[in-house]
Amino acid sequence: MAIVGAGAIGLSCAIHLQRAGFAVEIFDPRGPGEGCSSGNAGVIATAEVLPFGRPSILRQVPRMLFDPLGPLVIRWGYLPRFAPWLLRFIAACRPGEVERLAQAITSLLVEAVPSWREIVKGTDGERLLVSRGWLRLYGSKSALEAALPEAMWRRELGVKVDILKGGEIRELEPALAPIFEGAILFPEVGHTLSPLGLMRVLAAIVAQNGGRFHRRHISRIEIENGRAAVIDEADTSHAFDRAVIAAGAWSRHLVRTLGIDVPLDTERGYHVMLPTPAASPLRPVSVMSPGYSLIQMEEGLRLVTGIEFAGLQAPPDFRRIRRLVAHAATVLPGLKAEPMSEWLGFRPSMPTSIPVIGPIPGRPEVMLAFGHGHLGLTLGPATGRLVAALMEGKTPFADVAPFLPANAAI
Ligand SMILES: Cc1cc2nc3c(=O)[nH]c(=O)nc-3n(C[C@H](O)[C@H](O)[C@H](O)COP(=O)(O)OP(=O)(O)OC[C@H]3O[C@@H](n4cnc5c(N)ncnc54)[C@H](O)[C@@H]3O)c2cc1C
Repeated sequence: MAIVGAGAIGLSCAIHLQRAGFAVEIFDPRGPGEGCSSGNAGVIATAEVLPFGRPSILRQVPRMLFDPLGPLVIRWGYLPRFAPWLLRFIAACRPGEVERLAQAITSLLVEAVPSWREIVKGTDGERLLVSRGWLRLYGSKSALEAALPEAMWRRELGVKVDILKGGEIRELEPALAPIFEGAILFPEVGHTLSPLGLMRVLAAIVAQNGGRFHRRHISRIEIENGRAAVIDEADTSHAFDRAVIAAGAWSRHLVRTLGIDVPLDTERGYHVMLPTPAASPLRPVSVMSPGYSLIQMEEGLRLVTGIEFAGLQAPPDFRRIRRLVAHAATVLPGLKAEPMSEWLGFRPSMPTSIPVIGPIPGRPEVMLAFGHGHLGLTLGPATGRLVAALMEGKTPFADVAPFLPANAAI
C-alpha cells in the first residue's frame, strides 16, 4: 500500500491500514508532519461543528477584507483562478446546505478525541495531548452578544459552551490583560503541546509497525493492470495494489494526473513563534478582533492567524502577522514581541469544508483522503479509521456518503 503524503492524514491512515494488515510505504519529500500539520494552532477543534462557509462569515467578508489587521486576505491577482472555488463556497453558504454540512462534519468530530486518545495510547503522544478548553475573547459586550446565536447553534449540535464575563475570564486566565468584556469557552476542547512532536509520534508508530518512508516527490499516479503505480520525480515507478492520496493542499495536482479534477484550493495561514512569556494562557485563546490565536506550546508561544487566498506558489507576506505581534503584547503583558521564527502553511480546503475520503469512482485502486481545511489535525486519526474500514470493506463508524469522491463535485 502506497501513501502519498506524511501529514496528519497520511500518517493516521498508515497506522490504521497497518492494523488492518496492510504493509505501508509513505512517499513525501519532506519529513513526517513537516507540511501543514506541524505549523497549525494545535487545537483538537471539536467545537468547529459549523462549516467555514456560512451566512455570518459571508456578511463579515467585506469588513475583514478592508481591515489591515483582519484575518482574511485575497490576493487579487489570484482571483481569476480562485473564482470557481469562491462561487462553490458562496453556494455552500445557503442555510439548508449549511445544516447538512454541519451534520456531516459533526459525524466525524464526535469521534475525533477518542480516535486521538486511542492512536497515541502508550506513547509520548499521551503527554502531548491535553484537554483544557478553548477560549474565544471579545472586547465588548456587543461583540459577545453578536457571537451568541452561533454559540447556541454549536450547543444544539452537542458542543459544550460556557459564556463568561470579564471577571470570570481573569479567574480562568490570569495571564491575560483585563481588556476583555466577555468570552465563549468550549471547555471540552483539547490541544497539543507540540503539533510537530505529535506528528513524530505518529511516524514512530508507523516505523515500529514496519512502515517504510521514502523521501520522494510523487509526480503522477497511473493505474496499470489493476495496480496503482506511483511515479516519482526521477520517473521511477513504484507499483502497489492500492494507493492513498493524502498530499494535503497539493492533492489536486496528483488527482489530475488520473484525469479527474476536484475543487480543492488552499487557505493559507501564518504563525510566528514568540518567546514563552513569564505568564502565558493555559489553554488556546482566540482574540476575536482583530482575529488571531495564542497557544503556549513546548517550543514557545505560537501566534496563529490568517486565511489568505493566493494559491500554492505566491511568496509569503508576513507584514500582517508582524503587526499582530504588537497587538498580542497588549493582550499578554510582559510578552517579548520578538518573533523567533515565521511560518506559512497551506490548509487543504474544499469550498464545502467537507473532506474527500474514499475511492475514486471506477478506480478502486486509489483512495483519496484530503481536504480537511481547518480541521486536519483534529480529524487525522478519525479519517485513518474511515479509510481503513473502506479499504477492508467494513462498515465505518460514520455514514461516508457526504465524503465520498463521487459526492465531492468531482
Ligand atoms: C495557520 C493554521 C492553523 C491551523 N490550526 C489548526 C488547528 O488548530 N486544528 C486543526 O485541526 N487543524 C488546523 N489547521 C489545519 C491543519 O493543519 C491541516 O488541515 C492539516 O495539517 C492537513 O493535513 P494533511 O495531512 O492533509 O496535509 P499536510 O500536513 O500538508 O501533509 C501533506 C503532505 O503531503 C506531501 N506532499 C504533497 N505533494 C506531494 C507529492 N506530490 N508527493 C509526495 N508528497 C507530497 C507534503 O510534503 C506534506 O508533507 C491549521 C492550518 C493552518 C495553516
